[in-house]
Amino acid sequence: MMGADALGTSASEARARLSKCRRLIIKIGSKSLTGDAWERFAAEVRAVRDAKREVVIVSSGAIALGVQRLGLRGRPKDIGWLQAAAAAGQSSLMRKWEDALSPQGLVAAQVLLTHADLADRARTNNAQGALQALLEAGAVPVINENDAVAVEEIKFGDNDQLASMVVPLVGADVLLLLSDVEGLLDERSERIPFVRSIAREARKHAGASTSGVGTGGMASKIEAAHRATLAGAHVVIAHARAPGIVAKVLEGHDLGTLFPAVVQRLSARKHWIAFTLRPRGALLLDRGASEAVGKNRSVLAVGVLGVRGSFQPGDSVSLVGPDNVEIGRGLVRLSAVDAARACGRRTDDGRSEELVSRDDLVVLPSEA
Ligand code: GLU
Repeated sequence: MMGADALGTSASEARARLSKCRRLIIKIGSKSLTGDAWERFAAEVRAVRDAKREVVIVSSGAIALGVQRLGLRGRPKDIGWLQAAAAAGQSSLMRKWEDALSPQGLVAAQVLLTHADLADRARTNNAQGALQALLEAGAVPVINENDAVAVEEIKFGDNDQLASMVVPLVGADVLLLLSDVEGLLDERSERIPFVRSIAREARKHAGASTSGVGTGGMASKIEAAHRATLAGAHVVIAHARAPGIVAKVLEGHDLGTLFPAVVQRLSARKHWIAFTLRPRGALLLDRGASEAVGKNRSVLAVGVLGVRGSFQPGDSVSLVGPDNVEIGRGLVRLSAVDAARACGRRTDDGRSEELVSRDDLVVLPSEA
């Protein structure tokens, strides 16, 4: 399995670990960026930096500000108008961050990403290099989705998902998801302070975001938290307006909901294969092949019952077990047509073609 849940960790031990944070991502939702929010967060960022920690901000708010600037009556539904609002709003958003961070002696640096930037390994490495250099230079990267050019098919989903993909990119050890909710709530609307097994929690909410492409809301936050914990970050979902929230979370106060990082995190590349790339199809595995995948062995054609979708060599595919459950993902070596031809077969000399190498394969966590 790709990284066990942080079982055996008590809530207070997990909270105490937050104080070891070296690199923090703060994701702030649109509804929380009003009034003096920018100034409040800038002061918080200053304090985090004074404690010798690095900070990356993932900031929403472009569309909301653009709607105001263009004098629109509400959030548009049409994609062209949404893009227009984002373009008009993004410059205001950055001005607000600059105006707030600059008196704190901090330089804001805008980084706009689309999913296509991160779906390509070379471009991912470029983005990683740029973010690394910005942090070394002492700037505060302010990341948002490049909504002005991102149409539906190439969108991250939302900024919770974007933030979870930034975790392996910058090697963050804490991700703080700030919005207008106190945290994850139970059936009696009481805050759940600590979620030890996020795999189970993610599965409970899976119906609401089956594709993993979030659309805002708690299901998307949990999915994002799940992905970020697998990349080695502790995640806290908390209320953006709680005074001094960033400092308090890092001091280990019992605020929001904490999801501890998994013990064995995925490498940045495996995380990218599993969560940034979108599967283009699926290989349907027989029981033997799915057991082999569970042990992190390569997928051989002889154990593949069939193929779904249309993919090319190097694309990401889902690995689906006999119970029709996705058990892993990997980069496939053949096109869908060639894979369909090879499946179930051995070559004349008795070998079976490797469809997904173990180096390119990620086993998705089973029920924990
Ligand atoms: N990128 C969008 C914006 O800046 C927000 C998306 C989100 O909050 O999930 O308006």
